[in-house]
Amino acid sequence: MKSKIGLIFFYLFTSLSLYAPSAHDALHLLEGKKNLIHVAIIGAGPAGLSAAIPPTRSGYHTVIFEGLKPGGELMNAMVVENWPGVKKDSGAHTMNALEKQVKQFGAHFAPQEVRSVDFSQWPFVLTLSDGTSINALTVIAATGASQKKLGFEGEDTYFGKGIFTCGICDSSFAREKDIIIIGGNDIAIQRALQLASLARNITFIVPGPRMTAQKSMLRKLKGMKNIHYLYNKKIIGVKGEETKISHAEIFDCKTQKYSIIKTDSIFLSTGLTPNSELFKEHLPLDQHKCIKLREGRSQKTPIDGIMAAGCVSDPVYRQVAVVIGDGTKAGMDALTFLSLWGLDGVSQKAIHKDLYIPPASTSIQHIQTVSELNNATKRTQLPLLVEFYSPLCPSCRKMEAPLLALREKYKNLVKILKVKVDQDQQTTLIDKQNITIIPAFVLFNKGKEIKRLEGEATQETLSSFIDTAAKGRSKKRTTPLKNS
Ligand SMILES: Cc1cc2nc3c(=O)[nH]c(=O)nc-3n(C[C@H](O)[C@H](O)[C@H](O)COP(=O)(O)OP(=O)(O)OC[C@H]3O[C@@H](n4cnc5c(N)ncnc54)[C@H](O)[C@@H]3O)c2cc1C
Repeated sequence: MKSKIGLIFFYLFTSLSLYAPSAHDALHLLEGKKNLIHVAIIGAGPAGLSAAIPPTRSGYHTVIFEGLKPGGELMNAMVVENWPGVKKDSGAHTMNALEKQVKQFGAHFAPQEVRSVDFSQWPFVLTLSDGTSINALTVIAATGASQKKLGFEGEDTYFGKGIFTCGICDSSFAREKDIIIIGGNDIAIQRALQLASLARNITFIVPGPRMTAQKSMLRKLKGMKNIHYLYNKKIIGVKGEETKISHAEIFDCKTQKYSIIKTDSIFLSTGLTPNSELFKEHLPLDQHKCIKLREGRSQKTPIDGIMAAGCVSDPVYRQVAVVIGDGTKAGMDALTFLSLWGLDGVSQKAIHKDLYIPPASTSIQHIQTVSELNNATKRTQLPLLVEFYSPLCPSCRKMEAPLLALREKYKNLVKILKVKVDQDQQTTLIDKQNITIIPAFVLFNKGKEIKRLEGEATQETLSSFIDTAAKGRSKKRTTPLKNS
């Protein structure tokens, strides 16, 4: 039923666009609407960020919803050599520079995830993870693609407890361990580069007779003594104890024989599946589950005003230079749509007061020195939760949305502060607190550390970390902290 309405709407819309509606029509449809965004971009990877450049440069209110992976997948690249004009850099540096540029043009970054979309009406409606409802004049879908699962026995049971997809975030599970990387592509090599100095042994398990990575990538592993290759092999199952794996069962596709290999951790690198679930009821998907674009060279989807860019719409050219090209085109397509509706100049001003301004993660107070920490401690009776982070650390970036949500939850109960660790003047504070892993969350009460949590955490983990620490502080308290 819903899709029929969508279809009727689409035809109506297309025919409307043929008659080039006026700014007056658009303003009429926007009357009484709140939380307006000219260009809403879902996804903060290279596609999403580059899509923001054309509309922000033209003065349109552009908001990028970051979701669970701010900076996108490139944040996990140890080395990027194919970013035009740059000989070599890390993925995190590359994305950081792009983010700075986009912010300079005036793009807003929103840490929330988009949980649902409704493209059957205009303005388009997006519902965010914090429940906010957004009215978007145009939408760019740039949600990327995620690591494919393989479906072998034990994969779901041990996912996150021995089976991983991110070399940087989960590197602690490789330290002094015998690990397996499944797959032989460029990303598998990047994973090995991230883990080779930590792991005891890395074994690639590849279904075909050779690695499929580019020669330039393969050369990077030359001479590394702890790297091994098993060709024509598939994992058919993983066994272990409750929370950790001990061995994998292997099938040899050539000899048709089974064997067992001891391992502590497995890193998947077996291809990607587009993050298109959010759109599947509203936009047509192709056989790869990528969002289908209209024929031609644009990034337009069949619905006017909705564009898609990057890995969510491209099953083939999944390299960052292509992705940023897609993003730029999508941003330009958004401009075309907005000018068709006459939404520039006077009419832009008319909706100015109802624009959606996201809660900025930078609004959490930063401290830099030991004396600032001491002062903050003296100034409040509340416990202090201090996050030590770096904008170059993908795991830290993932903590932005949970921290903002916790700030709301524990308003008047816990004060949250941040310390950026990659600036020289903070060394004393970091040394004093003995911070060796980031992100690190240290809870202080009356100036004394009462508990710490190291590494990436979910909002729930952080919340129960605060609650248990608070319980320990006050023996009488038996329930989690609550705001009155
Ligand atoms: C380890 C590794 C190394 C790599 N190295 C290279 C390299 O050297 N060179 C190269 O060309 N390519 C490399 N790549 C590939 C490159 O990273 C991708 O091609 C590129 O990141 C795809 O960009 P994207 O913007 O389409 O998607 P992504 O980078 O995947 O970004 C998707 C964004 O969408 C957000 N999102 C998803 N769902 C939602 C939602 N519901 N609401 C809000 N936001 C949402 C995510 O949080 C994320 O910000 C590498 C990839 C990996 C994993």
